[in-house]
Parts: sequence; C-alpha cells; structure tokens
Amino acid sequence: MITFKNVSKRYSGDRVALDTVDVAIERGTIVSIIGPSGAGKTTFIRCINRLIDCTSGTVEIEGEAVQHIGSRRLKQLRRRIGMVFQNYNLVDRLTVLENTLHGCLGAMPLHRSLFGLYSKEEKEQALTVLEEVGLSDYIYQRCADLSGGQKQRTGIARALMQKPDILLCDEPVSSLDQQSAQDILNYIERIVRTRKLT
Ligand code: ADP
Ligand code: MG
Repeated sequence: MITFKNVSKRYSGDRVALDTVDVAIERGTIVSIIGPSGAGKTTFIRCINRLIDCTSGTVEIEGEAVQHIGSRRLKQLRRRIGMVFQNYNLVDRLTVLENTLHGCLGAMPLHRSLFGLYSKEEKEQALTVLEEVGLSDYIYQRCADLSGGQKQRTGIARALMQKPDILLCDEPVSSLDQQSAQDILNYIERIVRTRKLT
C-alpha cells in the first residue's frame, strides 16, 4: 500500500531527518514507528501525503509515485489519507459535530464549504462516525469543554469523514494520560480493522 524506496530527507543546514529509508507497508496493517524526539517520525509520516517533499528516493502509494503527480491528483490522494494529530487541531469554540463535519470540507465545492452547507448525507455520516468513536452524547458540546481523550476521538471522527483508506496518526496519544491513551489506541485499532484501513 505504502512503499518507501531509498527515501532521504535533508533539511537546510544539512540536517538528515530520513536516511535511505526502505519500508513496505501492506494494506490493512497497523504499523507503529517508535523513536525519540527528533528521530524523524513526523518527517516520515508527512512524506506519505507530501506535506513534506523528500529530498531523494521514491514514496509510492499503491504503486503510484507521489513525487511527480499534479496538484489535482495530489488533492485526490490526500482525500484518501486521514490524519490525526498530537494536539488534535480542533476549533475549540465549535462543537464536536461541527469539527467532525470539517473532515468533509476538502471534498466539497467552494461555495458549499464557504458557507458550511453540509448535505443531509454528510450530517448523517457525521452522526455515524461519532457513534463509532462513542461521542453520540457529546455532539453539541464545544470542543473546549472536552477531555483530551474526547478531543482525540473527535479528531479521529473528523479524519473518518474523508472515508480514508489510510490513517496517519502522528503521536496520537502522547498528550493523554495512560488510560485515555489506551482507549484511543483501542479505538484506532478497532476502526482500522472494521473499516479495513491501513
Ligand atoms: P520526530 O517527529 O521524530 O520528533 P521530526 O521528523 O520532527 O522528528 O524531525 C527530524 C529531524 O529533522 C530533527 O532533527 C528536526 O530538528 C529536523 N527538522 C524537522 N523539521 C525541520 C524543518 N522544517 N527544518 C529544519 N529541520 C527540521
Ligand atoms: Mg514529531
């Protein structure tokens, strides 16, 4: 599903973040990348959807090299890849439901996204994913008033709105206490299995 061939990333000042990385990630698997701060985990993850461009080597998704694809194709590709962040990246003053619906903004035409005009299907889908992450009772709660674990579950729900094939999680539990971290990892594992994600 995801293949790194000889991938290196060098930042300015000759800092090497990735040094000839070769890895093949099979469809449907969960892969954890573990390493100390500065090891290159974020760089690695962001090379997959080209939030960061590698310096040399090839990143392929289902055999398609992502380096040289056009902006339109890149947008399509990114739509298939959900992201979950360490600090959640939610809009705190908005509700769980509104933040979740933000996950479909990328696929909406501009005039609808500008005014937040979500379709009935999108709203129903949001309710379904919120149920999947156990947040049905919190849909109208402002994200500012949630616990860390609930915030991250909202972040996962938002990622699922894209109907992704791939879920990239960058330190999804490092801001959480041990119990909430375990809960989130369990949610991620269950969702990846039931939805057959990678
Ligand atoms: P991790 O996520 O494992 O903490 P990163 O991928 O963020 O590691 O960083 C890997 C290395 O690349 C570190 O040495 C970091 O300082 C460096 N680095 C990351 N981003 C940049 C950047 N934009 N410019 C220069 N150096 C960077
Ligand atoms: Mg990082």
